[in-house]
Amino acid sequence: MAMQTDLDRIENAIDATISRFSGEAENLLEKLVAVPSVNPEQPGVNKADHLGGESRANKLFATYLSNLGMNIDYVEVEEGRANLVAILRGTGQGRSLAFNGHIDTVAPQEGRFPDPWTAVREGNRLYGLGATDMKAGHAAMWLAIKALDEVGVRLDGDLHIHSVVGEETMSHEIGTTAVLDAGYQVDAAFVPEPTSSGDLLQMSNTAPGNALFAVTVRGKSAHWASRNLAIRSGGGGDSIGVNAIDKAVYVYNAMRQLEEQWGMSKTHPQFLPGAFIIHPGVLKADVGIEAAPYFPDRARFDYLLSFPPGETYEQVKTEVEQHIRASSALDPWLREHPPEFEWYASWPPAFTDPNSEFVQISLAARNAVAPSEYFSAGVIPAGAQSDASFYEKQGIPAVVSGPGDLLRAHAADESVDLDLVPIAARTMARTALRWCSE
Ligand SMILES: [Zn+2]
Repeated sequence: MAMQTDLDRIENAIDATISRFSGEAENLLEKLVAVPSVNPEQPGVNKADHLGGESRANKLFATYLSNLGMNIDYVEVEEGRANLVAILRGTGQGRSLAFNGHIDTVAPQEGRFPDPWTAVREGNRLYGLGATDMKAGHAAMWLAIKALDEVGVRLDGDLHIHSVVGEETMSHEIGTTAVLDAGYQVDAAFVPEPTSSGDLLQMSNTAPGNALFAVTVRGKSAHWASRNLAIRSGGGGDSIGVNAIDKAVYVYNAMRQLEEQWGMSKTHPQFLPGAFIIHPGVLKADVGIEAAPYFPDRARFDYLLSFPPGETYEQVKTEVEQHIRASSALDPWLREHPPEFEWYASWPPAFTDPNSEFVQISLAARNAVAPSEYFSAGVIPAGAQSDASFYEKQGIPAVVSGPGDLLRAHAADESVDLDLVPIAARTMARTALRWCSE
C-alpha cells in the first residue's frame, strides 16, 4: 500500500513537471525541425546534399540529453550517419528500457510554407518537415526524462535513448540494428512514432512484414505490323516475336490469383481478414526506347507485399516464386523464359505478445494519461512499419505509440498536434517507472 502511494505521489509530481516544461519541449521540437536531416538515400534525393544532416540533428539532441546527466555515445556504421545512444544509468538492479526514435525524415514536398525547416505554429499545431514523423517523438522522450530528472527519480534499470538514422529507407543495419549490435542491448523498447490516422495515441504491438521486389518478363522484339503473325492461328507464333506486355499480363494475373489466395490463407487474430496484399506499384515495358512501333522485349513490375507476424521473409519469397514458376510452366514461352525475380528490400513483421508484461505496463500507462477520444481500447496493428521490428527480431519486446498522425507524415505541410507531446511524455515516464524497477 505504502509503495502504491509513493508511486502515485511520484507520478503526480512527474505530470506537473511535464506540464511545466512542455513549452521547452516545443522549443526543442522547433530546433530539431530546423536541422535538416533528410535521409540521404531517399528516392529523388541527391545524397551529397543531405549526407551529415542526421548526425547534426543527433548532435543537437545530445546537448539536451547530456544536460539531463545522460551518458552520450555515437554508433556510426556509415560515415556521416551517426546514431545517438544516450543512457541514464540506473542502480543496476532493474530492467532496462530504450526509447527509440528515428532522426531521419523523408524529402520535402512543395506546400504552403516556403521553408520546410522553419517551424510554423498555428494554434496548437506545429508545421515543419519531420514534425510528426518523428521529431515530436524526440521532444516527448526528452520531456519524459527531464521530468524524471527534475523530480529526482533514480530508476533501477538503465534508460536508453536510441536516436537512429536510416529508418525511412529500411536501412536498419546502419540504424537500430547497428546500435543493438554495438552492445546497447535493452530489455524492452518504446517507439514514440505515430501508429494511426487522425492524431491518435493508439498503441501497437504488431505490424505486418513487408518485401519490395521486381519481376521481369522477357519478350522478343519484332516489327509491330507482325503482331497478327505472332498471335493468330496460322502465323509463326513465338518464332515471329513475343510481346512482353502480353506475357506481363499473364504474370500479373497469376500474382493476383496468389493475392486472392492470401486473403484466405494468410490470417492473424489482430488483423482484418484479407489484410495481407501483393501490391503492384510500377509497371514498365518497352524495347529499350519508349516507342509503340516495336514488340516490347522486356516488362518489369515492382511490387510491395505484406505478410503476417509468424511468417518469415524467406518463406514468403519462396511461396511467391514457386507460384509464379508453376503458373508460368503452363505457357510455352514463359516455361522456356521464366520470369526473373529481384528481391531488394524487406522489413520483418513486428509482434510482441499483447498479454506480455511490457505491453500491459505500457498500455496501462497510456490508458491512465490519454483522453479517451485519442484511442480505442487495447493494442492495434500499426499502420506503418517502425524500428520496433528490429528489437523484436532480437527477442526484445517493443510497443509503438507516438504523438502524431500518419495522414500528415510523408505529406506536404507535415504537422503535429502539440497537445499530444506531453501526453506521450507522461505515458513514457510512467512506463519507465514501472518497467525499470526491481
Ligand atoms: Zn517514422
